[in-house]
Amino acid sequence: MRIGIGYDVHRLTEGRDLVLGGVRIPHKMGLDGHSDADVLVHAIMDALLGAIGAGDIGKLFPDTDPQYKGIDSMLLLAEVIRRVEAAGYCIGNIDAVVIAQKPKLGPHFPAMKERLAQVMHCEENRINLKATTEEHLGFTGREEGIAAEAVCLLEEFA
Ligand code: MG
Repeated sequence: MRIGIGYDVHRLTEGRDLVLGGVRIPHKMGLDGHSDADVLVHAIMDALLGAIGAGDIGKLFPDTDPQYKGIDSMLLLAEVIRRVEAAGYCIGNIDAVVIAQKPKLGPHFPAMKERLAQVMHCEENRINLKATTEEHLGFTGREEGIAAEAVCLLEEFA
């Protein structure tokens, strides 16, 4: 078995779509970034890359590379999964938390899990998503940004 951890933050800004876990969420602001800035998927990718000892997404998909501008992070996740599988591993489980003052994310988790499970070639019950606020404290509390943390456990293919 291999384990990995991932953490990411993106700034909230007006005029961008909010995309989390591959799902577009109605909100007055979206996350800023070179890609679609899906902070949850970025944290999950870093956990996966960490588990196979492959560095991080900054190394794999540099934000100076124009081919990744505005890209759907689910496409990047598919590439990370290809590498995980090439290394001989499959998803044991993923646990992730999104840290955001707003909006309420719980109602969107089923759709996110469905998309993530498809791309990660695993059952939905291997993916757990959580959300928390930070009680109006700090940058997430002031709605300046959204953070996400993820851990994963990978198992060798039987
Ligand atoms: Mg990121």
